[in-house]
Amino acid sequence: MVDEAAFRDMREQRNPLPCVFHAALLARQAECELAQRRSLAERETLACPSAPAHLNCETLERLFLERATFPLRLRPGAPLTHATVMRLHCGGIAGLQQTLGAGRADVHRLIARAQETHGSLTELR
Ligand code: SF4
Repeated sequence: MVDEAAFRDMREQRNPLPCVFHAALLARQAECELAQRRSLAERETLACPSAPAHLNCETLERLFLERATFPLRLRPGAPLTHATVMRLHCGGIAGLQQTLGAGRADVHRLIARAQETHGSLTELR
C-alpha cells in the first residue's frame, strides 16, 4: 500500500499531464476521446496526451469556477472539497452539453464544438 504523498509524487513523475476532469471521467459522468487510462499503484489514473487540449480544459475549469462561485457559495481562494469539485465539474460539463445540444458528454468534443459555435470558450453564456 502506497501512502497519499508517495502516490502523488509517483503520479507527477509518471503522469505529468493528468486529466483536468479525471474525477468526472472516472465516475463516468463525462468522457473524453483523448483520455488515456493508466494503472498506478493499483489505482486508475487518466493522462492527457495533448498540451493544447489540456490548456483548453484548464480554461473551461476556470470558467466553471468563476460562474459557480455565487450559486455554490464558494469562498474565493478557499480549497475545494472533492464533493465540490465533482459538483463543479459534472454540473459544468452537463450544462455545456445541454447548451450545445450535444448527444455525448465528451469534453474534448464539447470544447471543439463550443469554439466552433461561439468563437471562444469565454464567449459561452
Ligand atoms: S482533453 Fe481535457 S478531458 Fe480530455 S484528457 Fe485532456 S484534460 Fe482530460
